[in-house]
Amino acid sequence: MGRGGFFGRYLRVDLGQKRAEHVPLDEATLRAVVGGVGLGALLLGRETPPGFDPLGPEAALVLAFGPLVGTPLTTSAKLAFVAKSPLTGRISDGLSSSAFAIAGKRAGVDAIVLVGAAEEPSIVLVDEAGATLVPCPELWGRDFAISEASERLGQAYPDHRFAVIGVAGERLVRYAGIANDGRHAGRGGLGAVLGAKRVKAIGVRGIRPVPLADAEATLRIAKDLARRSLGPATEKYRSLGTVANLSTFNRLAALPTRNFQASTFEDARRIEGEALHETRERGRGSCKSCTIGCEHFFEVRPGQRPVKMEYENLFALGPLCGIGDPEVVLRASSACDELGIDTISAGGTIAFAMECAEKGLFPAGPLAEEARDLVFGAGERLLSMLEDIARRRTPLGDLLAEGSRRAAEIVGGEAPSFAPHVKGLEIPGYEPRALQTMALGFAVGTRGADHNRSGAYEADFSGKVNRFEPDAAEAAEHAVAAEDRAAVMDSLILCKFLRRAMDDFYGESAEMLRAVTGLPFEAKDLVEAAGRITLVRRLFNEREGWTPAEDTLPARFFEEKLPGGAAKGAGIDRARFARSIDAYHARRGLDERGFVPAEVAREMMAWMGGKYR
Ligand code: SF4
Repeated sequence: MGRGGFFGRYLRVDLGQKRAEHVPLDEATLRAVVGGVGLGALLLGRETPPGFDPLGPEAALVLAFGPLVGTPLTTSAKLAFVAKSPLTGRISDGLSSSAFAIAGKRAGVDAIVLVGAAEEPSIVLVDEAGATLVPCPELWGRDFAISEASERLGQAYPDHRFAVIGVAGERLVRYAGIANDGRHAGRGGLGAVLGAKRVKAIGVRGIRPVPLADAEATLRIAKDLARRSLGPATEKYRSLGTVANLSTFNRLAALPTRNFQASTFEDARRIEGEALHETRERGRGSCKSCTIGCEHFFEVRPGQRPVKMEYENLFALGPLCGIGDPEVVLRASSACDELGIDTISAGGTIAFAMECAEKGLFPAGPLAEEARDLVFGAGERLLSMLEDIARRRTPLGDLLAEGSRRAAEIVGGEAPSFAPHVKGLEIPGYEPRALQTMALGFAVGTRGADHNRSGAYEADFSGKVNRFEPDAAEAAEHAVAAEDRAAVMDSLILCKFLRRAMDDFYGESAEMLRAVTGLPFEAKDLVEAAGRITLVRRLFNEREGWTPAEDTLPARFFEEKLPGGAAKGAGIDRARFARSIDAYHARRGLDERGFVPAEVAREMMAWMGGKYR
């Protein structure tokens, strides 16, 4: 092993056997996949049999740290939760930040892997010695808000930091998230994976300092990076936060509205970041170890606790559902956080149901009856629907807890053509017809439609490509480059909001890794690691049944043109899109159908543990 950054082992906790053991991780493996999502994908494949049920006892939930967690480097307090998604059946990796990540790493491990299922509702307490399972009947089935459950756990175990699921995770809502320190690993239903294991919370206590191979160099880099993190590249995040996107996207006609039936919203002014900032902003914050501080808190009503708001919450619970009332959107965002559900999937699935209801597609009976008042713009109905979904307490709530893809299959008829997902994951707030390089990034994403694992929208926004008709080879080039950079950032792990503050991403990342780990990382090693990490994820998906047909978008985006604004008349041409997909496969080194070539898969399996094909 090197002299810093890694501990060279992970903690494997078998919940059914109530047994925990430290498992060695060798230096070659850690260098090959770096940490975070890369290490998580590797361990997920190693620890599970092919074709397993993501909500069954054979499922594994991996908490993977990066080599930089616990160092003075800005935005490094992050971890990745990795599992097979119960929403998509494909790999899902959710990143989360703050003190939990630091404490987990300081328990002296590079990852924690939970396998099996507890006999009764429990919490898992991890420290340097291992893990203990403690029954928690007082917390399970009690309908606590996440903040209250976290508070109770903090009082009972003041030395631990907790990651917690809400009522939605307990009820196995397929897009339930995991929360820690007010942050959320939201996407893909990782909270349901924990719920299926009957684990309410994971508590970590860590006091072991993360070793630094070259403390002086690390500190020098950290100071320089912190200085640059306060420059113009991050100004947007500091001044308004990600909510600033709403007015920009509306202007560019890239703001998904009424379940992607339009891309401009007539009420945008009421909820745009600038308006929220002027009238409601009541505080700011940041994750631990962050000098940027993108968190902005907004007042719902005088005297009430302000609510953190991001662009994705705002678009999904606002324009996507036709809602322009800031108070409703803030309440809805807060409800999702407290119930423990992903805001993008919740908003996407409800917006889909609103369109089904308006078109009279629900089969006559309880579903149609319940959906009668579920119309675009119905704010109070959105709020009650969130509660119905999180608790699965009504027939429609139970159906929508399954996500838009499964709901569309039940509704039938034309519904699947406009269910807003890729591989089952609801599409984030970027209209694919107005941002067609991003459309490719969404289609090929291993996690499904995913703005965090592909930043291909940057090409569309740069003005250097035709965002309505990108050249196939050029789009593929941008999609691969964006995916690669995200794979490395999420494996180090550093916050993506730092990316524009770095001049030479791969070179600077390698320099950080050399200083922290003492291992001879070079820029080219990280370029190679980026491709490898994507291939590990693809191999996992292939093993779990991925087919090339999944790398696509809903029919709506090919068959319906955008109705107004700067993108009026835009649609995606199927033939050109197919050429982009082919170009992506070629650029990624896949075979002509998009599979990992057999010889590459064989080579990778030799060091991955051999269970991928
Ligand atoms: S920029 Fe925002 S999300 Fe990123 S680490 Fe800082 S506070 Fe967290």
